[in-house]
Amino acid sequence: MPLHSYTTEKTGSLEVICGPMFSGKSEELIRRLRRATIAKQKTGVFKHSLDNRSTLKSVVSHNGTTLEAFATYTPEAIAALVEDNDIAVIGIDEVQFFDTTIISVICTMVNKGKRVIVAGLDTDFRGVPFGSMPTLLSIADSVAKLQAICTECGDNAIFTQRLVDGRPARYDDPIILIGAQEAYQARCRGCYLIDKKPFVLQL
Ligand code: ADP
Ligand code: ZN
Repeated sequence: MPLHSYTTEKTGSLEVICGPMFSGKSEELIRRLRRATIAKQKTGVFKHSLDNRSTLKSVVSHNGTTLEAFATYTPEAIAALVEDNDIAVIGIDEVQFFDTTIISVICTMVNKGKRVIVAGLDTDFRGVPFGSMPTLLSIADSVAKLQAICTECGDNAIFTQRLVDGRPARYDDPIILIGAQEAYQARCRGCYLIDKKPFVLQL
């Protein structure tokens, strides 16, 4: 009787890379995918198209490295492309933008033996856990929580500061503000500013 049961079937895995904007998530995703390519594994890169179209776009990191990606609107479109192209290693950037069906799509791919690597914001500009990220972090095989550099003081930054017309955004500001100039910065706990932050996080 062997101590361990062995299987010839390949097991899949889920790796999550998270952190605020500018923390190097895209860079790290690109690095892992390049290594998989060097290992002669078939890779596929995906990101949300943000509108109802599927096109080719690039994953571009803030330091300029790029990787060609499929931009899709639905998680099911990712599953279909992975199936059709027999992709073994799947990278998904900005995973927080997909609807919650991304969770079951990822689980299905992992169960089929795929290596799935996702990158995304763990919290939104209010500091609230973002979309499917809490679930993906919980079910992941590995998690990398990256930090950026605070634009105000140079400390490690875990927050994404939203600025509207140069001022810190309010907690209940709408996600889309018509006609306003918007910007995002990485900030540390001390320099991150937001009004009406709930004392207890409401989930
Ligand atoms: P993310 O995907 O997390 O937004 P990227 O991989 O696109 O991050 O970009 C990381 C790169 O951004 C860094 O290597 C650095 O060159 C650049 N960068 C610009 N501003 C900052 C900052 N405030 N903190 C850290 N890196 C920064
Ligand atoms: Zn700071």
